[in-house]
Amino acid sequence: MTDRAQQETLIATARAMQAAGLNRGTAGNLSVRFLHAGRDGFFITPSGRDYASLIPEDIPWLPLAEGADGHEGGKPPSSEWRMHHDLYVQRPEAGAVLHAHSTFAVALSCLRREIPPFHYMIARFGGATVRCAAYALFGSQALSDCALAALQDRSACLLANHGMLVYGRNLQQALDKGVELEALCEHYARAAQLGTPVLLSREEMTAALERFQTYGAA
Ligand code: 13P
Ligand code: ZN
Repeated sequence: MTDRAQQETLIATARAMQAAGLNRGTAGNLSVRFLHAGRDGFFITPSGRDYASLIPEDIPWLPLAEGADGHEGGKPPSSEWRMHHDLYVQRPEAGAVLHAHSTFAVALSCLRREIPPFHYMIARFGGATVRCAAYALFGSQALSDCALAALQDRSACLLANHGMLVYGRNLQQALDKGVELEALCEHYARAAQLGTPVLLSREEMTAALERFQTYGAA
């Protein structure tokens, strides 16, 4: 895929993220891993820009190389570029990273509690819970560190008093998982309003985790 084709796909997916109701205004950001002249790195949405007006030339590329924090081309990258960068470095399987301020993820993140195994879909994100990362200032290295700690053995987490972070093997999967996590947050919030959700057992979650090893792989 050419640079331009990848930048266009990133913009289209960012707009789909907005259309799916994950974000409003300029909140949230999206990136995709991309080899540039043989160097590992990623394209990311620029900081503080509405997705509707983006053109491929606006999309910066950042290298993953140690100590390289400059961007090449495009407008200044998302303030959360560290979170995306550190995830790509730590997780070779991460092909795209999505951060959103979706309503129910934000609401639960303000309680600073992990989402328990109230539904088998929790296993989609790698474990029996979806954790909530400790609070840190947006755009800081501390936030990236907190997020990565909460992501241990998981592909998603909440960010305290902020939103959600999720990754997938490509842009489409990251978007799908972002939509699914927001739905799960809504389901949990509604169930918890009605009463005390019955949680799945360790055995039931282990069986669901096994199923997700092959789910959607074909
Ligand atoms: P950017 O516009 O810099 O990506 O910031 C949005 C955001 O969600 C910060 O956490
Ligand atoms: Zn944010």
